[in-house]
Amino acid sequence: MHFNTLQHLQQELVAGRVSCVQIVESYLENIRNNKHLNAFLEVFEAEALANANQVDKKVQNKNQGKLAGLVIGLKDNISYTGHAVSSSSKILEGYTSVYNATVVDRLLDEDAIIIGRLNCDEFAMGASNENSAYGPVLNAQDNSRVPGGSSGGSAVAVQANLCRVALGSDTGGSIRQPSSFTGTFGMKPTYGRVSRWGLLAYASSFDQIGPVTSSVEDMAAVLEVIAGPDENDATVSETAVPAYSKNLKSSGKKRIAVFEDCLTADGLAPEIKTHLNQAIDALKADGNEVEMVSFPYLDYMVPCYYVLTTAEASSNLSRYSGLLYGHRSTEAHDLESTFIQSRTEGFGPEVKRRIMAGTFVLSSDYYDAYYTKAQKVRRIIQQETEKILKDFDFILLPTTPTEAFKLGEKANDPIAMYLADIFTVQAPLAGIPAISLPTGTMDSGMPFGLQLMANHYEEQDLLNMSKYLFELMED
Ligand code: GLN
Repeated sequence: MHFNTLQHLQQELVAGRVSCVQIVESYLENIRNNKHLNAFLEVFEAEALANANQVDKKVQNKNQGKLAGLVIGLKDNISYTGHAVSSSSKILEGYTSVYNATVVDRLLDEDAIIIGRLNCDEFAMGASNENSAYGPVLNAQDNSRVPGGSSGGSAVAVQANLCRVALGSDTGGSIRQPSSFTGTFGMKPTYGRVSRWGLLAYASSFDQIGPVTSSVEDMAAVLEVIAGPDENDATVSETAVPAYSKNLKSSGKKRIAVFEDCLTADGLAPEIKTHLNQAIDALKADGNEVEMVSFPYLDYMVPCYYVLTTAEASSNLSRYSGLLYGHRSTEAHDLESTFIQSRTEGFGPEVKRRIMAGTFVLSSDYYDAYYTKAQKVRRIIQQETEKILKDFDFILLPTTPTEAFKLGEKANDPIAMYLADIFTVQAPLAGIPAISLPTGTMDSGMPFGLQLMANHYEEQDLLNMSKYLFELMED
């Protein structure tokens, strides 16, 4: 059972040639056959089938929503009433959501069927999914490799056809980097395009929810439903949400900037560099204007990102105190030991490392040297990025410097792991939207992505350009 786009699936659904129940059953079978990938933390089997049955009735009555037939998985940091949500952390073991994330409400209103919750790095901190308290996710293309992170389960679920679309969250690349590693499409929307209400926070001035899909069409269909103002999240913009899927058309002949500094970056795999050059040639040959520009800030991005996100994380994660919800140590005997023991037992090593780093950069003696400085650097990166996007429609760059690495390869080297984010942190630092497209394949058969970034709220143009570039590279 395979449909290239949701639109195609819905035509078959309306014609009565397939039912939602059949679609869900086929995903459930794929999930059973791919348990070893460890993509799902929980499958909502009975519930998904019951919901599918309801949607089938609506289709018969011709009153189904826009996403009828869409089977979707949720990263385990998105709240769904009555269901467990843990950010793949022991500290939230046994916790159940008491309200829906706004994105979940919107998906359900349009008749999407939620099939389960997906493994990720603990509190979305990581680039390999090895930081999950529930074990790593395996890349479906090569089980000895990581799927990327932190939305590793989301990416593999789409890669291995365990659901049609998955939602992930992206703070510094967590949707796009796993998309690159698994040959899927991944989008981080503009900061403020999609509500964060009900998303378990990592770094609130960066976090955005976005889709992992197997086509640009599906990305447009899902974004149009989840985007838009929300009274529960004051950072969401009132900017009108276009009908992304209806307006979707392959459109090129644009002005595109490429950073020289990316092409010459240390550690960029030669095959990815060659592929980027091929993309540039193809774009030029097809009438686009592609220009090399200098962007000498690459070395500052990853440090700036890690100072600011660890600071925000240390503040956000202070709520997991052992008092309000989640894990409380049985060893504790007073207030202080409740904090210390519960957090010591509940958090994994990477989360602890970041809470400590974040607490340090916010401490009074070092605040100006690190936190204030990093805020200034962020401002410069924002301004310089915006300057480029005044002269150009898009910025083209690799999504990742390499293809998926081996499990264990970087697990004990946090700095090497952080540098895997080199090309993905710019978009969240600047707050702009970005898409990773699965255009490349290594000689080894491993996929990798090209990334496009656009100006704030230009998701429509970004989707149209993505469709165009993907088709151009397929020819
Ligand atoms: N790899 C990055 C980090 O560990 C990105 C994570 C994310 O986007 N959530 O912070």
